[in-house]
Parts: sequence; structure tokens; C-alpha cells
Amino acid sequence: MARSTDPIKTRHTATRIVKTLRDAGFNALFAGGCVRDELLGLHPTDYDIATSAIPAQVRTLFRSVHEVGEAFGVMLVTIDSTTVEVATFRTDGAYTDKRRPDGVTFSDDKSDAQRRDFTVNALFLDPTGATPATHGVVSPMGGNVIDYVSGAADLASRTIRAVGDANARLNEDHLRALRAARFAARLGFTIEPATAAAIRDHASQLSGVSRERIGEEVRRMLTHPAPVARAKAAALLQGLTLDAPALGETTASTPTASIASLPAGTPFAGTLAAWLIERHRLYVPVDPRPDPRPMVTRIRASLCLTNAERDALHEVLECFSDLMAGWCTRRIAGQKRWAARAGFAHALACLQPHQPEVADKVRERLAQLGSDGIGISPTPLVDGESLIELGFRPGPVFKSLLDRLYDEQLEGRLNSKTQAVELAKVWGV
Ligand code: ATP
Ligand code: MG
Repeated sequence: MARSTDPIKTRHTATRIVKTLRDAGFNALFAGGCVRDELLGLHPTDYDIATSAIPAQVRTLFRSVHEVGEAFGVMLVTIDSTTVEVATFRTDGAYTDKRRPDGVTFSDDKSDAQRRDFTVNALFLDPTGATPATHGVVSPMGGNVIDYVSGAADLASRTIRAVGDANARLNEDHLRALRAARFAARLGFTIEPATAAAIRDHASQLSGVSRERIGEEVRRMLTHPAPVARAKAAALLQGLTLDAPALGETTASTPTASIASLPAGTPFAGTLAAWLIERHRLYVPVDPRPDPRPMVTRIRASLCLTNAERDALHEVLECFSDLMAGWCTRRIAGQKRWAARAGFAHALACLQPHQPEVADKVRERLAQLGSDGIGISPTPLVDGESLIELGFRPGPVFKSLLDRLYDEQLEGRLNSKTQAVELAKVWGV
């Protein structure tokens, strides 16, 4: 891992660190995701270095070294305000807790490749070119690829394949199942059959993984910049039967296409809402509409949502319910109040693929409301302070008075503060 926003600078710093380690007689290579991404023609922003130097030796070679997991041989080296993760080659011990190895043994690059999750994540790269390329593969950014697990071939055929025995590797660490889905969706790769079968076999054990980590993986999948990749992730989770343990629901085999049609900038909560709407067929008209709250509470616990994410999810589902329950038949003030809500646009985007005619009608109506000379959410002509100046006391009546005045304004029956104050005086007695 490297923290810098400039990928070229980060690579340059990571290369300097590799050179320093190699000049001191150690083996040092770029490892994992950065090699995969370089070979795919992407510019990694994160560089991880794997080395034969143990933490005490790394510490003698660089001025700024922070330990993040010395027992695992993981250090952070900072040069010119760019931080790169440097980890000692290691072999993982047994995974008693199904998430982390009990202990590690420092080893060499070949065994370090074996502990990694997927072949495309187990590649090394010598940016100095000193180590010969294993299969003649070089990075477009320079340097030779060292490949002990046929990861380069899997990269070329766009395949996610577990390193070693898929069943054993998925059983060792259940989070790998979600990682497989995330990489396959993000890169547009296919999960190789034995790996997919092992994921399905161990899917129910995902519930043993911490909710924070499950939530983080799902969040990363559903916030991919491309909505198509988000939809693919949701489809993969369902296809691999990971949706039930991840979301705390029964497995669904519903389509996920509506996610693909969401606008690119849709936030996590909007995408999650679209997925839930599809899974629970919330786009089918029913009367009365179900209260979204129990679902939100459950998803919040399953994915360890933040309060803001929970509120945003509730907001979109509530707006969606209102659209389904007949927003089009509301009076002007009601339509404007709902349209002004934070979740309304996302809810409308969720409605579009299921009820295109209704969504088009809503958009048409929104255009009319927005150009009626008043607007959808004008600044209120009177606010609480103005009422206090008139001698009103804050309380429930006060709030409903303000609401009624604002409705009058939204409907175009009040055009000035003077008019509003006069009406407040009449209504307030
Ligand atoms: P990303 O671009 O999402 O950061 P990445 O491949 O760099 O992708 P990281 O989570 O940063 O993924 O992990 C770095 C590397 O560590 C991986 O490429 C993989 O080799 C290894 N790794 C990470 N998590 C696991 C795991 N759960 N099991 C085995 N190896 C793992
Ligand atoms: Mg990474």
C-alpha cells in the first residue's frame, strides 16, 4: 500500500525502495495488486513491496519506518511524503479463526506467492529488471514479472482462480469469497469453476466474518465508478449464494440490471436501495406500501452501515414508496415537498427501469413544477424567527403554522412576506 495521489510519483518512490533493499543484498519486488493492475494497463495508486529483509533490517535502511504489523512483517516506509508498504516474504500458519493466520514464518518469494488469495494477485515484479522474467512477461511500465502461480496466464484469460487448492483456500479465510466477487466484477473477469464451486460450498460460513469487513467489501463493490460493474457484483453475489449471508436475507435470483442503469455518481445507499428494490420486488404496486424501516434496520446490522448510510438508505426507500404510492396524484405542495427531499432523485432513478412510463410522467411533472415561477424548494417567505417577532411561541402549533404557510407559498397563493405575515396573524389566533 502506498499513500500518494500521484501514481507516477508513487511508483518512482516504490522503485527507489526496491533499489535500496536490493543494493543492500536483499530480494525486493513489487507484489500483488499493483503488478496485476500494471499488466492490465491501469495506473496503480497503491504499491506493495515484498522483500526478504526482516523488519529489523528494513528499519536500518530507511529513515522513516512505521510498524503496522511487525509480527506479520509489515512496515510502512515513507520517502518524500509517499508511504509504501514493505512486507517480509512470509508463509502463513494455520487459520484457526478463519480470517487471519495464527502466526507467520518469514520465507521467500515463492512461498509468499502461495499464501496469496488469487493467482492474478500473486504476481511479483522487479522494476529494476535485475531478476529475469519467469515467462518473458514484462510490465508496460517497465520491469520483469516473476510468476510462480500462472497468474499472468489467468490475467490474459481474465480469470479469477484461487492459488492452490480452491476448497482449502476458501475454507481458510471466508472473506476471500467476497474478494473474488469484487475482483471479478471490478475487472470484468470470470471466476474459474473450481474456485466458484468452493465459494458456494463455503458461502454459509461467511456469516462468521466480521460485519465490518463484509460491509466494507459490499460497499467497495457497490461504489465502483461504473454502474455496470456494480450490477455485475450484485449478480455475482447472488449467483455465488453470498447475498444471503452478506445481507442477512434469503438468497434471491432476481435480476440486477436496474443497478446498471443508475447514474454513475449514485452513492452507496442509492445503489443498495436499487438492489433491495429489485430483490424484494418493491416496484410491484401493493396497498398499503410496506414500511421500509425493518429492512433498513436489518441491512444496517448486516453491513455495519454508518448512521449516515442508514439514514440515506431509508430516505431513498421512503421516497421510492411515495413514488409508488401515487406521488403523481398528490397536490402541488406535497409533490414539491417530496421532490425536494434528498432521496427523491435516487428513488426516481430506481423507478426508471421498472416503471418507465411512471418515471417519465414524474420527470415531466417535475419540469412543470420547476418552471412555475415559484420553484420546487423556494426559501420560505416566513421563518420561525419572523413568527417569534410577531409574538408567537415555539411549539407544535408553531411548526404546523409554518408548514401551512409554506404549503400556501408552494402552491402560489402567497407571494410576499407581508402577505405571509398577514395570513399568520389570521391563522395564529
Ligand atoms: P485493491 O486494488 O483492491 O487494493 P489488492 O490486490 O491490492 O487490490 P489488497 O487488499 O490491497 O488487494 O491486498 C494486497 C495483496 O495482499 C493482494 O493482492 C493479495 O496478494 C494479498 N491479500 C490480501 N488479502 C488477502 C487474503 N484475504 N488472503 C490472501 N491474500 C490476500
Ligand atoms: Mg491494495
